[in-house]
Amino acid sequence: MSRVAYVNGSYRPMAEACVNIEDRGYQFADGVYEVIAVHGGGPVDEEGHLARLERSLAELQIAPPMSMGALRLVMRQVARRNHVENGMIYLQITRGVAPRNHAFPEHSLSSCVITAKRMPTPDPEHVSKGVAVIIIPDIRWRRRDIKSISLLPNCLAKQQAADAGAYEAWMMDENGLITEGAASNAWIVTNDGELVTREADFSILNGITRLALIRLAAEQEILFSERPFSREEAVSAREAFISSSTSLIKPVTAIDGEPVAGGRVGPVCRKLIAAYAAHMAGQRAAEG
Ligand code: PLP
Repeated sequence: MSRVAYVNGSYRPMAEACVNIEDRGYQFADGVYEVIAVHGGGPVDEEGHLARLERSLAELQIAPPMSMGALRLVMRQVARRNHVENGMIYLQITRGVAPRNHAFPEHSLSSCVITAKRMPTPDPEHVSKGVAVIIIPDIRWRRRDIKSISLLPNCLAKQQAADAGAYEAWMMDENGLITEGAASNAWIVTNDGELVTREADFSILNGITRLALIRLAAEQEILFSERPFSREEAVSAREAFISSSTSLIKPVTAIDGEPVAGGRVGPVCRKLIAAYAAHMAGQRAAEG
């Protein structure tokens, strides 16, 4: 089956889908994106993703290419045309095409590209045995709350993790506190049973999965604190895990080659994995 992409107003076969070489996304990474999981044929937490998209666009003064309602329709159309039952939608909006000059052009039309692809069901071993992470310095800019397409430090971090045989890299700020993963949010459960993730200020991306988990943890009456945690706290935690739209929730059972909590998947993480699966299934039931 050949894939289809939406590019600035038309649906095109993937091989023919292209953007102008003077697109500011290509030249300056002057754009934002969203990755939305598709479960049972429908987008997961669509409202949250679109709200974050609107916020990212506003922070960078990029005009939305269409209304959020229209975007919703196009995203569904792309998922349908690519026969995606379970997978992801990728959406990228840039400031558009203009002669290369750092300052914003006076007139440019935002560019919009949307693709969708199927994804295999998550590796069951990732859930039963957990994944490994490494900890590295966070070398990114100071506005990590904006979901910018400028992802070079994240790519370097993921490659470092891959080279070390790990699934993810957790990044650490200059105070020795974990910010987040290269493509996920970072969580621990302390020895007092407190679920902890860093507060969503400019230092991290406010994950949509993160927000869903905070709500689900409250429903499950899990003791929760939004604060930074140190490398030391992480390595001696009772549990650790990551969250993202595509990785979902994966227990972390090793940090920098050392087992976390004896290398076992903990009960809080298991509870949240089950609650999140029910949350995704519930959205489909509500929609259709
Ligand atoms: N943090 C970073 C740096 C990410 O790239 C991502 C997802 O790609 C996340 C956190 C998790 O965000 P979400 O749950 O919205 O997928």
